[in-house]
Parts: sequence; C-alpha cells; structure tokens
Amino acid sequence: MKLANYVYGQWVEGAGEGIALTDPVTGEALVRVSSEGIDLARALDFARREGGTALRAQTYEARAAMLGAIAEVLTAKRADYFDISLRNSGATEGDAGFDVDGAIFMLKSYARAGKALGAARHLKEGARVPLAKTEVFQGQHFLMPLTGVAVFINAFNFPAWGLWEKAAPALLAGVPVFVKPATPTAWLAQRMVEDVVAAGILPPGAISIVCGSARELLDHVTECDLVSFTGSADTAARMRTHPNVVARSVRINVEADSVNSAILGPDAQPGTPEFDLAVKEVVREMTIKTGQKCTAIRRILAPAAVARALADAVGGKLAGFKVGNPRSEGVRVGPLVSKAQQAAAFEGLAKLKEECEVVFGGGADFAPVDADPAVSAFVQPTLLFCDKGINARHVHDVEVFGPVATVVPYADAADAIALARRGQGSLVASVYSGDTAFLAELVPAIADLHGRVMVVDAAVGANHTGHGNVMPSCLHGGPGRAGGGEELGGLRGLAMYHRRCVVQGGPALLEALSRDAADAALLGA
Ligand code: NAP
Repeated sequence: MKLANYVYGQWVEGAGEGIALTDPVTGEALVRVSSEGIDLARALDFARREGGTALRAQTYEARAAMLGAIAEVLTAKRADYFDISLRNSGATEGDAGFDVDGAIFMLKSYARAGKALGAARHLKEGARVPLAKTEVFQGQHFLMPLTGVAVFINAFNFPAWGLWEKAAPALLAGVPVFVKPATPTAWLAQRMVEDVVAAGILPPGAISIVCGSARELLDHVTECDLVSFTGSADTAARMRTHPNVVARSVRINVEADSVNSAILGPDAQPGTPEFDLAVKEVVREMTIKTGQKCTAIRRILAPAAVARALADAVGGKLAGFKVGNPRSEGVRVGPLVSKAQQAAAFEGLAKLKEECEVVFGGGADFAPVDADPAVSAFVQPTLLFCDKGINARHVHDVEVFGPVATVVPYADAADAIALARRGQGSLVASVYSGDTAFLAELVPAIADLHGRVMVVDAAVGANHTGHGNVMPSCLHGGPGRAGGGEELGGLRGLAMYHRRCVVQGGPALLEALSRDAADAALLGA
C-alpha cells in the first residue's frame, strides 16, 4: 500500500515505487511513501490562499475549539495509533503513549489556553507610543498572524507529538500547516492527518501532508512563510543556507540535537533522595523510546566521590530491563526505528568507547528477546564511564541517538559548570540537589546555554515532570548546538506565527485597529 499525500484539498498518490517503511523488529515492509509528481508550489499556494484565508477569518477562540475537536478525534482513534507505533517504530506501549498521548495532551493544552485570546484575530502589544507634541500622531505595535504557510520538516522519533506540538500553536495563530514527516516513521503522522481531514474540522488547505522526500520544497517558500525544522544539525545547516531561504529571509526555527546533562549536586550522596531520584531519571531517559528523544540524558555529571556508585546503581537497574520485541511479555525496551539508525548508533558508540569504559551493555553479542538480530534494529542499553572530564572530545560532541549515556565525574561546581557548558548549547539539563549554594552558583551559570533547567530535590521528589518531558506550558528549544529554536511555552509559542508591525498614524485609526485585538501580554512573553 502506498500512503497518499494530502495537498490542494485532495488525496494524491505520489508517483513511482516509493520508499518502503519497515517494521524495525521483523524487517517487514509495511507501507510505501512517495512525494514524486506532487506539485509542491501549487500545494503551498493552495494552503496560503485557501487555508490561511479561512483560518484568519476565524477568531482565536474558534480556532482553539478546532484544536479541542482534533484532540477528540485523535483520542477516539488512539488504539490505531498505538498499533502503527508498534509496527512502524517498534514502540512499547509506554513509548507509543509518550508520542500519541503527548500529542493529544498538547492539543488539549492549546485548546484550553487559546480561549483566553477570545474573539480577537490579531494582537495589540503594549501602550501607544507618543510620536508628536500632541496626540495627533502616535504608534501602536501589533502582532499579526503570518499570511503564509507553516512548513514543518520533522524528525522520525516523534511522528505524532512532533506534528501536533507545532501544528497546535500555528493553527491557533491562524496559520495553515504543511507537514513533511521524516520518512522512516511517516505512517503515523499521515494516518492522523487522514483522520482529522475526514472529520471535517479544519477548512480546506489548513493542513497538508507530503510523505517521502522533501524534494525542492524549500525553493517555493516565501517571506510570508515559516519553516520549522526538527532533526539533525547537519540537515539544519543545509536548510538555513538554502539559497531561497537566504534570499527571501524566510523565518526558520530549528530544533536540532543536543548532548543534554543530568547533574548531581555535591549533596546527592548514595542513600539520599536526590541520588535515588537521579538514578531513576537516568534509567528512565535511557530506556523510554529506547533513548530516541532529543531531550534524553546523554551525560551524567557526578561529584568524583560518588560517580562510581552512581554508575553501579544505574547499571544495576538497566540489567533488570527486558529488551526485545515489544509484542513479547515483559519487554520494556524496543528497537531503534531502523537499521540505518542502529548503524548510526553503533558508529557513535564506537567513538565514545575510544575514551570511555563500559559499565553496562554495549555488547556486540547482545541477543534481543524474540527478535532476529540480523533483521532487527536493537541497541542494548549501554552505560559508559569517562574520567577525562573536559578533555574528553566525543563524550561532549557525539549524540548517540539511542539508549546510551556516559557518567562523567567532576571535581567542583566550576568543573560541573564547564562540563555542562561544553555541550555547546542544550535543550535541557536536570540537576539533583538541595544544596542552595551549589544551585545558586550552577543554575545561572548554565542558563544561557540551556532552554530548560529542571532542579529536583527531596521536596520536589516524584512531583517533577521529567527531564525529557516537554510541557506545553514551558519553553522547548535550546541555543547553539540545539538549534537556537524556541517552541511552546504556552501562548508564547504563538509569537513565532505572528509578525510584529508598528502602525504610526492618528488616534482614530489606531483605535479602530485595536478595538478587536487581544492583548499580546496574554502570550506571557
Ligand atoms: P534528519 O535526518 O536531519 O531529518 C529530519 C527531517 O529533515 C526529515 O523529515 C528528513 O526527511 C528531512 N530532510 C533531510 N534532508 C533534507 C533536505 N535536504 N531538505 C529538506 N528536508 C530534509 O534527522 P532525523 O534523523 O529524522 O532526526 C534525528 C535527529 O533529530 C536527532 O539528532 C535528534 O536529536 C533531533 N531531534 C531534535 C528534536 C528537538 O526538538 N530539538 C526533536 C526530535 C529530534 P527524510 O526522512 O525524508 O530524509
């Protein structure tokens, strides 16, 4: 079966044989995708003209209601999505829930939050600015929804969440969305779009999807559009420097890879709640979605005196995880999504091993439960230990996109700060400590290079939302290597889909333009 693309208000099958999407446990080909023959320029134009015009005619609260209706459709079809996640991504039930339920949660959050913007269609920012000696000539800043299309080029690891975490704020802002999911796992995104289109919630052109190669998509984006990319730093660099993107100053948001850290404070000694919370979170981050999360913990920075105990504790827990075919009883860790990802993970792991010792896993002879290693894409959860600190190279540079993390001992707070910063920009760092002096030194010293810093102490305990969990109400994105993008953060996430314009003129005009505008302060930015 070849999955159809949804463009110019029609379902259109791509030409040719297409590319097969496979089951990473059995190697079986499941469905095929092709974007060949799709008129991408026409598809974008249709989205702008039909979808954009219809969405912008609606109010924020009406569009918020659409998001709520989408969430209901997806909730009703949840079982289908879990099945596709299992077959196409090798997802355990927990992994599928992380992606699918995370997507639904995201939509519901924006449906709720969007109501606050009421019956407005654009936003007014701040007070009028006096520009003359009298009130006859003033300025007023506005945030106007983009009149173009939001083009999403997504990564393979979150086919559901990755689509809706971008689409929710875009649609709420009144901007149509055009999705190019990553090929290996495109099936789930395509099915969700199919269900949403069938439900008739969105106006024609408000959502489009093209599966398979992006081809010359970026040749057709304009200054009215936005490109939101999630994926590797290498692909991001190609997008940023695309001649058309450069020539037309197309707005581009990049969420790239990241070598995130978990940091134990000097007080997180074995036997303390902070130590136990760190161990639990590291194990969770290494195993959920088999470590295929951009936010996953890659480096564990621990005081030199406790680093070995920490490594032993994490290694001990990993030994209790059954890794294999998620259809098998008791399996908690599945495969990577493809043989290509497995090969990339092995390559990265080999580099890390050059400067690390193996605490747990990493075995070439690893045998997954109920799966043939020759056709499946498993990587054994692997914990490494590196005593080279800041002088290590690969540990701070190589993101193994799988169940692999490295313990790195540090000498003092300054050393911990230097190591965290050596990631050159990360999505998240989590800190396990109740030592206020340590936190007062560390948190501000790493904040400019991290999109999110999560601090957990005994009082927070199990109430924290997770190192790798992206909350719709909180910022997602990170500087430097992490791509420099910013998404979510509640209604803040809408700012990217608006453009600021100051209108200078007489008070009657400014009053008329302001009358139906919501206050941009509601975005919270
Ligand atoms: P990737 O290889 O860079 O691909 C990402 C997307 O770009 C895919 O849809 C891919 O399509 C498309 N693409 C590739 N070359 C292109 C080109 N020349 N023009 C237009 N589109 C192009 O990344 P990936 O392997 O899917 O994802 C894994 C990476 O994503 C990891 O490094 C991870 O850290 C990062 N990630 C980051 C976040 C975040 O929020 N920061 C979230 C998830 C993942 P095809 O699949 O068809 O090649």
